[in-house]
Amino acid sequence: MSNSRWNEILEETRTLVRAAANPRTGMLSLSPDTAALLDRIGPGVAAAVGSSGESPDAPEFASDASSSAASLAALAEEVSVCTKCPLHESRTQTVFADGNPDADLVFVGEAPGFYEDQQGIPFVGKSGQLLTDIIEKGMKISRQDVYICNVIKCRPPDNRDPMPDEKQACESYLIRQLELVRPKVICALGGHAAKTLLKTDASTGSLRGQWHFYHGIPLRVTYHPSYLLRSPGEKRKTWDDILEVLKVLSGEVTPVP
Ligand code: URA
Ligand code: SF4
Repeated sequence: MSNSRWNEILEETRTLVRAAANPRTGMLSLSPDTAALLDRIGPGVAAAVGSSGESPDAPEFASDASSSAASLAALAEEVSVCTKCPLHESRTQTVFADGNPDADLVFVGEAPGFYEDQQGIPFVGKSGQLLTDIIEKGMKISRQDVYICNVIKCRPPDNRDPMPDEKQACESYLIRQLELVRPKVICALGGHAAKTLLKTDASTGSLRGQWHFYHGIPLRVTYHPSYLLRSPGEKRKTWDDILEVLKVLSGEVTPVP
């Protein structure tokens, strides 16, 4: 996506945050009303900004993108028969990723839950719906334009936390996914993703609010959607994190390691 489009999205999101913040609670709501509000704001802002006249992204990386898509498909095949940790015994199927293999933005979650295990797609349950709302109603981009994956590719029984040796066994797949997608920004959702990617024991709360780097790629830590469902008062902070992500995608900010 071109920088000018990301700029438009950033402006739209800023407008959304101002318009939708509840002055009493400081919280944002993703109700149907907010969605309708966004729909009204979107075209107006887009029309005010006008067409940039810029040509679409240059095609010179097309062959790179298609070869990484092929490598990701091969990796997904490899993962689908993996037995490196005991989680393979109870899975219905592996959950590799969803979205665009050539995405500018990657979201990394924790592990599949019940619905993800049933469908083979990450973030399709309740917290998945919230993540989809953040992407589509908040950032105003399609879920299919970003890449979504998890630290762990098989569902832990009863949705328990993944264990350290399970994370370790599965990590090489995540490393290869991120190498192949090579996004402009990574957003770590919650403590398991943040701790695995950044090799730290620090809490999500203390890792938020600053840029980290994963193999040179700017990485932002935010709360996991399932935590936001339990603690909706923290949604405002997630919006702050998402705005910072949009600034980098638009080229407005370039974090320096
Ligand atoms: N939570 C996650 O971390 N990942 C999913 O895919 C679903 C819920
Ligand atoms: Fe393999 Fe990861 Fe599944 Fe364990 S969780 S069996 S390492 S794919």
